[in-house]
Amino acid sequence: MECLGCGSTSEVLDPWLCPACRQALANESKETRFPNDDVVCLFPMRTLSRRLVHALKYKSIPGVASYLVRRSSLCNRGLASQFLAQFPEPYFFVPVPLHRARYRERGYNQAEKIAAALAWAVHGRVCKWLYRKTFHVSQTKLSREEREWNVAGAFGTMLPEKMPTRGTVFIVDDVFTTGATTGACMAAFGKDFPLNVKICTLLYEEPATAVMDFVADNSVEWNP
Ligand SMILES: [Zn+2]
Repeated sequence: MECLGCGSTSEVLDPWLCPACRQALANESKETRFPNDDVVCLFPMRTLSRRLVHALKYKSIPGVASYLVRRSSLCNRGLASQFLAQFPEPYFFVPVPLHRARYRERGYNQAEKIAAALAWAVHGRVCKWLYRKTFHVSQTKLSREEREWNVAGAFGTMLPEKMPTRGTVFIVDDVFTTGATTGACMAAFGKDFPLNVKICTLLYEEPATAVMDFVADNSVEWNP
């Protein structure tokens, strides 16, 4: 076995990371991200965290979901657990549904694995209350505007007949970038939904457009 972080063939994998990568992950877990008041992201997007989530999505290693949750600030009484504590229990973790074609090819929905790990960590429940309405083209090649247009209205809710009257819904996904996907999920619950709806993801990726805006703003200074 090789370390999923650095590829070294260490003999003390746990079972996925060598001691050095384990330490690096522990440091990254202190960088819980809050893109806005409704969202908590357990890790920043870095080389190591990106590789782990890549393994979760593309290398058929679903156990990485609980591995990351257990090592996050949710499980070591850090910022993420303080964030959750603001909201009333019980907690309902609602995975973002996967495209059907993607599900067939992967065999599982990574968001469900993450939701299960979160539910385990804080004694919540996994609730599949969302479904995907139609098939959409891959998000990754689209601009921010195109992505938002592509997912708006893409999700619907399937709620139980007897809805809980208290508690908090957390929409769960692997990565938060522009928030288009999770925002569309939030919108699916509608204005009159009786519970708080928040978002929890494993990673936060700085939107590329934000970086490009920053570069554009700052290059003006150098090109009068
Ligand atoms: Zn390593």
